[in-house]
Amino acid sequence: MSKKLLLKDAHIEGIRYFETYRKQGGYTAAEKALKMTPDEILEEVKASGLRGRGGAGFPTGMKWSFLAKPEGVPRHLVVNADESEPGTFKDRYLMEFLPHLLIEGMLISSYCLGSNTSYIYIRGEYSWIPDILEEAIEEAKAAGFLGKNILGTGFDLEIYVQRGGGAYICGEETALLESLEGKRGNPRLKPPFPAVKGLWERPTVVNNVESIAAIVPIIDITGAEYAKIGVGRSTGTKLISACGNINKPGVYEIDMTITVEEFIYSDEYCGGIKDGKKLKACIPGGSSVPIVPANLLLRTVNGEPRYMNYESLADGGFATGTMMGSGGFIVLDEDQCIVEHTMTLARFYNHESCGQCTPCREGTGWMYKILKKIEKGEGKMEDIDLLWDIQRKIEGNTICPLGDAAAWPVAAAIRHFRDEFEWHVKNPELSQTQNYGLAHY
Ligand code: SF4
Repeated sequence: MSKKLLLKDAHIEGIRYFETYRKQGGYTAAEKALKMTPDEILEEVKASGLRGRGGAGFPTGMKWSFLAKPEGVPRHLVVNADESEPGTFKDRYLMEFLPHLLIEGMLISSYCLGSNTSYIYIRGEYSWIPDILEEAIEEAKAAGFLGKNILGTGFDLEIYVQRGGGAYICGEETALLESLEGKRGNPRLKPPFPAVKGLWERPTVVNNVESIAAIVPIIDITGAEYAKIGVGRSTGTKLISACGNINKPGVYEIDMTITVEEFIYSDEYCGGIKDGKKLKACIPGGSSVPIVPANLLLRTVNGEPRYMNYESLADGGFATGTMMGSGGFIVLDEDQCIVEHTMTLARFYNHESCGQCTPCREGTGWMYKILKKIEKGEGKMEDIDLLWDIQRKIEGNTICPLGDAAAWPVAAAIRHFRDEFEWHVKNPELSQTQNYGLAHY
């Protein structure tokens, strides 16, 4: 059984409220942190090996150490709660059930970074959660953990919740900052990075909800102890939101030492494939990472078991780095049609492209059109090659990672499931009435 650090109290009734959270030991990590110096906290975060839980997996301590500290210029912490990646809903769970864990993590992090005004930018569709967060903020303030001169330390902190308008692109950190400033959420060219010129051109750290929540156990048990959980550079615990054709969809906390097979088939986690069907493929880290066929998902190309961690999900000749991504684990059974699935994703990225870069704006539209044509049985063989060519021209040629995120699922689908694309081309009548999965199993 995986060790629980973030969700250990999630089952306790009333844990959403300050009184219950405090009774369970809540805010003791903050009390401990406020007796430390900011540099000591930074060293603990570095020692923990925590990697950003939003998708990129960049070391949090290193990110914090890049924060510029010019004299007299305010700094900010911005929590990225714009969780819009298809298949990802673990931050929603944290904010809905454990809002004080996030507030406590923000208090410790803001103190470490020197931010007296911090923000939670939350996606517009999570319409009921800002009220939960604002209630928690008020409770924390009434108990002296927010506001002026917190616990007599002289440190002041205000936290504001800002609702987004429902644009996926605002999960990209610079688009988020633009939106927070009241502008259209277009990603900025980098450099300068937010650590130097972020919110209102001030030094800013943007971190995911889960990353900031993880600061609480890191301070509680120390960075060194946190680093002992997990394996290699995949330290601590990770929240995974599992969905698709499984028996037990939900949010799970894993310690990154379990295998992918155990995660899918164990009753402790996904509980196996629904209706006893066969596993076909999985997207292990939200829709922006490539789809992985079952044979490569459970075992590496060398035949080793594949583990639920950053390193093990990074090898095997995949198109990108780590596949842990945002922790959105989408399982597809044998009946699913990869062409239809890829078309759905292409439509999503085309809709969500901000339109600044030509390869992304035009390329996502063309990929969607061609996929739609193939899926309807109206495609030609050369359309598959054209699709491949378009995704190659998007990858690496755009301002922000949305372009790559749109290209990778198409690349992986063609690489691993080219036979399904060809089936649609060769069987125009059948592909109008049946999907490939149902026709083949
Ligand atoms: Fe906008 Fe797409 Fe360019 Fe990102 S890659 S800036 S979403 S057009």
